[in-house]
Amino acid sequence: MAAAEPDPDAAMCARLLGPAGPPQRRALAKAITLIESTRQDHRLRADALLDAVLPRSGGSFRLGLSGVPGVGKSTFIEALGLFLVGQGHRVAVLAVDPSSSLGGGSILGDKTRMEQLSVHEQAFIRPSPAGGTLGGVAEKTRESILLCEAAGYDTVIVETVGVGQSEAAVAGMTDMFVLLQLPNAGDDLQAIKKGVMELADLVVINKADLDEAAATRARAQITSALRWLGPHSHAATQVLQLSALKGTGMPGFWRAVTDFRERQSDGGQLAARRQAQDQAWMWERIEAGLRQRFQQHPAVRAALPALTRDLRAGHVAASVAARRLLDLAFQAAAAP
Ligand code: GDP
Repeated sequence: MAAAEPDPDAAMCARLLGPAGPPQRRALAKAITLIESTRQDHRLRADALLDAVLPRSGGSFRLGLSGVPGVGKSTFIEALGLFLVGQGHRVAVLAVDPSSSLGGGSILGDKTRMEQLSVHEQAFIRPSPAGGTLGGVAEKTRESILLCEAAGYDTVIVETVGVGQSEAAVAGMTDMFVLLQLPNAGDDLQAIKKGVMELADLVVINKADLDEAAATRARAQITSALRWLGPHSHAATQVLQLSALKGTGMPGFWRAVTDFRERQSDGGQLAARRQAQDQAWMWERIEAGLRQRFQQHPAVRAALPALTRDLRAGHVAASVAARRLLDLAFQAAAAP
């Protein structure tokens, strides 16, 4: 009789939690592929894997980064990542880009991005999962953060494009949210979305090498704009200027990050931020799961076409139709 097959997920988990090196990187890549799968059996295995690695997660600093296309995000991450691995850190780069379902490519899919960092053995770069809604893509990225942490990456950078709602999603899964701006940003403050500015824990004016004077002006304008924004905490939001291309300013940037991290850890805000994020994440997933189950419920599916017709014809109020459908789903579920 053949010996029992070893459980492939146990082997993957052991390699993921094992020593750094190519087998670990391959295991991490495989584990992320598993959590990105939409197959039900894969989902169950992914949940078991997350349970197994959870005690080893949480140990990284999670840095969110956003900015319009062309602002220099990948150049910045390449420079920052190389600076950090040079200091002995292990750096993982993930992305949230729901538009990757449309264009076929993703913001990190282009192999020419982060050329040196992508081949560095202390770095791990993963493109945004393709397809799905923002909620779905964000969920995979949140879970990928946990896997990267379990594999010992101490800095996880989550990148997103400065369009749409994805910035809020990334700010909601990271310890610090950094907004990259161009040197002319200050000339048109109206164009800077107020909501996004409010999310920023640090603003960086990139490409300062192109026009140092413009960058300095932008820095002053954005600093004063932040004073007028929302909650008091923004009065302390720092604005830096640097050049990702020339690599100047990375030590100063990292000092600002470290200062922020220390202040937040000492004051307990960091732990509170993560707890609030976890709770929001759980509820977001509950809502998504409820919606999906509701839509798939046989009684709801049977009643929906007629009720929708009645609604369109004005024979039933929207709120009444909603209540009837909810009753169908939940009373049927509660019946013995
Ligand atoms: P992303 O779309 O935000 O990822 O931007 P990229 O990193 O691809 O950069 C867009 C272009 O700006 C590229 O041609 C970069 O070489 C250039 N770039 C990025 N950072 C700087 C910088 O600090 N100074 C200058 N002069 N160019 C930069």
